Amino acid sequence: MTTSHDSHADLRFDTHAVHAGRADIAATAHVPPIDLSTTYPVTDLEAGGAAYEALATGGRPPEGASLVYQRLWNPNVARFEDALAELEGCDEAVAFASGMAGLSAVLLAAVHAGTPHIVAVRPLYGGSDHILASGLLGTRVTWARPDAIAEAIEADTGLIIVETPANPTLELVDIADVVKQAGQVPVLVDNTFATPVLQNPSAQGATLVMHSATKYLGGHGDVIAGVIAATSEWAVRMRAVRAVTGALLHPLAAYQLHRGLQTLPIRVRAQQAGAQAVAEALAEHPAVARVHYPGLPGNDSRGLIGTQMSGPGAMMAIEMAGGFEAAARAVQRTKLVVHAVSLGGVDTLIQHPASLTHRPVAAEAKPGANVLRLSVGLEDPADLIADLTQAFKD
Ligand SMILES: *Cc1c(COP(=O)(O)O)cnc(C)c1O
Repeated sequence: MTTSHDSHADLRFDTHAVHAGRADIAATAHVPPIDLSTTYPVTDLEAGGAAYEALATGGRPPEGASLVYQRLWNPNVARFEDALAELEGCDEAVAFASGMAGLSAVLLAAVHAGTPHIVAVRPLYGGSDHILASGLLGTRVTWARPDAIAEAIEADTGLIIVETPANPTLELVDIADVVKQAGQVPVLVDNTFATPVLQNPSAQGATLVMHSATKYLGGHGDVIAGVIAATSEWAVRMRAVRAVTGALLHPLAAYQLHRGLQTLPIRVRAQQAGAQAVAEALAEHPAVARVHYPGLPGNDSRGLIGTQMSGPGAMMAIEMAGGFEAAARAVQRTKLVVHAVSLGGVDTLIQHPASLTHRPVAAEAKPGANVLRLSVGLEDPADLIADLTQAFKD
């Protein structure tokens, strides 16, 4: 199968970010036209039926055939998917109504294949932890340390799930080592924090690369979406699940995400530079016990920055010396930094994971009560440092 990204394989990352997923409109439009059609005329019944069959079973639309129905295919969604696949260096990508809808599709595909056992490394995003711990979709989970994955694999293990940098602790996991331990079992890496700008898990052997596109890919806090880049084999499985469960991405959201990818490299690098400055300043603040940020000395014990990941990113966890009370006080006092969940947007957000994003996580795996998570945006870091410094005062 050829996808639209094969044509300019020699270009560099930032160029891909601007042009990816646009080959089909290059001669006709400057920006992608938005196609809101829920249904498409079927001009030839036999060809229409064949297209329906192909799409409902997870294939791509046959050349020139009707797209049949938006739940099966949409051009804006497909362009965003092709672009993201190109940036992740994967065969294909499949977009969903949210990051959790994407993870759900992968888990359902594993259950359907008769391999419902999942090995997962904590910490994960709270919702991912919850869906695995609850067994809601028929999976069974074994939580393993990153160096004990091989021992946790059973005959019916369908997937290994890791998140690096991890939410919210910013721990880094060595993807190549996980892939080595996994053997034949596919590895899914949640790449939401790193983005394809800083890390391409498929280059380390990961089979599936997940994003909550709600975060950096959208980047402006106005789209909820998920996308999973993978091998074509997995893309077919995920599309087949999406076609029947209906957890599809809206074309307008796909348009916004596709546009968001164009500025992703400059946003991520600028946010990262700001985060480095903020992390260094907060590490010196008397109210702070520790800043967990891969760009600070001693925070990357495995030496993964510069190898697996090209930079430390723009997320950090802050341990307050004054415990829960100090953390709760700080989030009430910020004036510029917004107290809200989510991350990866142009504005800086702070939140208390144990109370909010990681609330459903079991006690033994919950982030500490003194931990705050900070997502650094595009503001001048001096303004952020001033605001956080006043908010953290006793
Ligand atoms: C937000 C998030 C998710 C869930 O994505 P939604 O788009 O909110 O469904 C999954 N993983 C990580 C790392 C996240 O930050």
